[in-house]
Amino acid sequence: DAIVKAVSISKRYGDGTEALSDVSIEFRRGELTTLLGPSGCGKTTLLKIIAGLLPPTDGEVRVNNKTVYGPGPERAFVFQDFALMPWATVLRNVAFGLELRGTPKSEREDVARRYIKSVGLAGSEHKFPSELSGGMRQRAGLARALTVNADVLLMDEPFSAIDEQMRRKLQEDLLELLREEKKSVIFVTHSIEEAVYLSDQIVLLTRNPGRVVKSIRPGFDRAAG
Ligand code: ADP
Ligand code: ADP
Repeated sequence: DAIVKAVSISKRYGDGTEALSDVSIEFRRGELTTLLGPSGCGKTTLLKIIAGLLPPTDGEVRVNNKTVYGPGPERAFVFQDFALMPWATVLRNVAFGLELRGTPKSEREDVARRYIKSVGLAGSEHKFPSELSGGMRQRAGLARALTVNADVLLMDEPFSAIDEQMRRKLQEDLLELLREEKKSVIFVTHSIEEAVYLSDQIVLLTRNPGRVVKSIRPGFDRAAG
């Protein structure tokens, strides 16, 4: 059953660019779907529309069968550059989503510490973003998205700054965590390898205008990986 549906989404930007044309996709609960395609095919545009950060020109986004018109607590967006607060420690950055929701300090820090550990950043709780490598910042951004406990994680190339060796370890750890917590993930990449390795569903997009070419279920046997 679908947790998120993109229904006949079109997006035309102010300058006339037709970024998406009649895109319909169903995202099933607990699955990881990859949006795959060349630069400019509308992956980021679609992800932002699903997140409610950008309105579609036509069509609608449904979450749990209800049309949504903006962001909501059931969807968490992981930005490409993570936009960590430079003046705050890793712990405070990761706990920030819960701080905004008014969760008491000890409780939100417990949750944050758990996710900091799960992304392999244990020991860096009291460091500042400037003291971290690019990959470590990226992992802090992931941990922050995980703490807010949204059902759906929307990730725009979340592994782009992480070196290959760390990436594989992180992806494996993260997949296990996401499956344990039954998260649904919509993930943008232009790496076919990453898509095949990680996805339950791969949606192939083409550009000018952005359209769905094909939707594939790779059926990768993770247990054998
Ligand atoms: P992708 O993420 O697949 O690279 P994007 O969603 O970023 O694709 O962009 C899809 C198309 O929309 C591209 O042609 C891009 O140049 C255009 N585009 C993206 N953002 C804007 C914007 N703010 N204004 C005008 N055109 C845009
Ligand atoms: P092993 O060392 O266990 O034999 P491989 O390195 O051969 O595993 O990888 C198995 C398959 O999974 C290969 O097709 C590889 O391309 C793919 N793969 C492994 N790790 C990743 C990753 N992090 N991103 C994308 N594809 C990956």
